Amino acid sequence: MAKSALVLHSGGQDSTTCLFWALRNFDQVYAMGFDYAQRHLVELECAQKLCERLKVPYTTVDMSFIAALGENSLTNHNQSFEMVGPYQGLPSSFVPGRNLFFLSAAAAFAAPRGIVDLVTGVCETDYSGYPDCRQDFVNHLAGTLELALQMKMTIHTPLMKLNKAQTFELAEKMDCLESVIKESHTCYQGDRSELHNWGYGCGSCPSCELRKKGYGEFIKGRGL
Ligand SMILES: [Zn+2]
Repeated sequence: MAKSALVLHSGGQDSTTCLFWALRNFDQVYAMGFDYAQRHLVELECAQKLCERLKVPYTTVDMSFIAALGENSLTNHNQSFEMVGPYQGLPSSFVPGRNLFFLSAAAAFAAPRGIVDLVTGVCETDYSGYPDCRQDFVNHLAGTLELALQMKMTIHTPLMKLNKAQTFELAEKMDCLESVIKESHTCYQGDRSELHNWGYGCGSCPSCELRKKGYGEFIKGRGL
């Protein structure tokens, strides 16, 4: 029987790498992106374009209610980025409940279609302290989803233990490095005006900083 997977594909570096990972590991791949009025909504356009090129069916789900819920600098376009924000000292870009909502929506879409494998690019290594990027959260949610849907769901997290440099390395191993650099979007400011060697972005927001630093380490590790 053909194996299918649904990839949570935001259009960022991590989820783009996961999309290529899923294409190598499953016969049929679907992708899903979420519109939560994030300030870098341009990432969804990138996700859509890439899926079109790869012929991966892509669904965008409206999650704009998330913007109405929380105080965070991703959905509140006037709030500035702070590495130590007001909520539990987490970066101000932490969107409470985001991965809980995303994975639940993905599972609700997948289950009736007989898809029991979900793929997400969450990562606890380079993590900014986001609690919903940890393996512990993912394991517990998989159990909860099984109870909710009466179907065993497997949540794959191929990047969980990788830092950004290793994520670039994985992309290179899978022959998708150029695509990840040019076709993914990471910058919180939504800036795609200039292509750097590590990709598009403003180069100074926390997300760009992480990607740029990871790319630098990746290149250094290659001995170039
Ligand atoms: Zn940026």
